[in-house]
Amino acid sequence: MLRVLIIVAVLVALALWMLKGRRSGSPDAGSGAARRRGNEPATMVACAHCGVHLPRPDASYDAEGRSYCGETHRVAGPR
Ligand SMILES: [Zn+2]
Repeated sequence: MLRVLIIVAVLVALALWMLKGRRSGSPDAGSGAARRRGNEPATMVACAHCGVHLPRPDASYDAEGRSYCGETHRVAGPR
């Protein structure tokens, strides 16, 4: 009986370890805030109108490739 309990305990521990390993190895691991923090230094751009810094994917761009914080400043143009 004791041997069966030990085998079950080992199997449960192994299953938990495999689940934990798979979760931390997936690209979706962690919160969105943690992912954003990791990408931030390479993706920040300044608005050509008001100078505010924002993540590159959130910026708007004009025909010359200048970045803006939003549609309003893109229409207003560089200052
Ligand atoms: Zn702006």
